[in-house]
Amino acid sequence: MHAITLDDMAEAGALLEGHFRLSSGLHSSRYLQCAVYLAEPARAEVAGRQLAARLRTAGAQLVVSPALGGVIIGHEVARALAVPFAFTERTEGVMALRRGFRIEDGTRVLVVEDVVTTGGSTREVMDVVQRHGGVVVGVASMVDRSGTKHPFSPLPYTTLLTLEIPNFSPESCPLCAAGVPIVKPGSRPRA
Ligand code: ZN
Repeated sequence: MHAITLDDMAEAGALLEGHFRLSSGLHSSRYLQCAVYLAEPARAEVAGRQLAARLRTAGAQLVVSPALGGVIIGHEVARALAVPFAFTERTEGVMALRRGFRIEDGTRVLVVEDVVTTGGSTREVMDVVQRHGGVVVGVASMVDRSGTKHPFSPLPYTTLLTLEIPNFSPESCPLCAAGVPIVKPGSRPRA
């Protein structure tokens, strides 16, 4: 079983073309809607198994992902590793562990995301884990569009699909300059 390709994403209807404002604030002409790819449970399960296989040696005892984007893939990775799963969520902009989820002191935690762009939200999850006494032992994401080789160095990091889609700051975005209307993916219901 090969890792996910851009063609797989396109075939699943998860590759969108246009002018998008990413959650990092950057703009892009393409967007991967991982939720659409993961809508097929069999695909989610395989993706989870592949990520888990690559980070099995990290010896994680718990998988933690940020809601909502990381929840499905994180849960599948946890299933493949046969460890529990918890998620963080934003309350008034601040990433937090809620719903009674607990992390025992010294628990080895794998942080799993759908997409890593700047790595900002991943680092927020790492901070939450550490504040609760956990030890982050690795990071995994379905898609890496960070443009850097080791975004979480020195921690091990793995991904199934590295994307070299250019991201633009709003000031230097050619699509903005051309007057193309911008869309925030996921914010608009499909017709
Ligand atoms: Zn733009």
